[in-house]
Amino acid sequence: MDDCLFCRIVAGEIPSRQVYADDTAIAFLDINPWHVGHSLVIPRRHVADLTSDATALTEIAPAISATASLLIDRLGADGLNLLSSTGATAGQEVFHFHVHLVPRYAHRPGLRELMVREPGIDLDRVYAQLIQQD
Ligand code: AMP
Ligand code: ZN
Repeated sequence: MDDCLFCRIVAGEIPSRQVYADDTAIAFLDINPWHVGHSLVIPRRHVADLTSDATALTEIAPAISATASLLIDRLGADGLNLLSSTGATAGQEVFHFHVHLVPRYAHRPGLRELMVREPGIDLDRVYAQLIQQD
């Protein structure tokens, strides 16, 4: 995809601070980080989002795991959050599938939660919608 930012990063046409690479995935520092070491793990091939390809997540799983270990070992992170957004409503801005790895530090907790919980959701109704037979 010529007009895809992350495909161009994979191709080396746009510079990135790459911290991990294997045959199917790369990881690089997010240009506008939530916390120190915030990285993005992406498949080398163009996949728009989580739902557009059944194997994309599996394909980058080893890269996610390796990059998470790197962030904890090298940066001394005390934990991390893993997040992936699908669709503009969910906050997706770059439509090449990616997983955010966000290191968290005990001395600098930042926001305790990345998302705000919504009170009053009818769990039984949601559950019925999810398990109903068509
Ligand atoms: P999302 O909102 O989930 O689609 O995340 C896209 C992420 O890409 C954002 O966190 C941006 O800061 C990041 N980003 C955008 N352009 C670049 C770039 N050239 N290099 C590294 N990260 C980028
Ligand atoms: Zn792409």
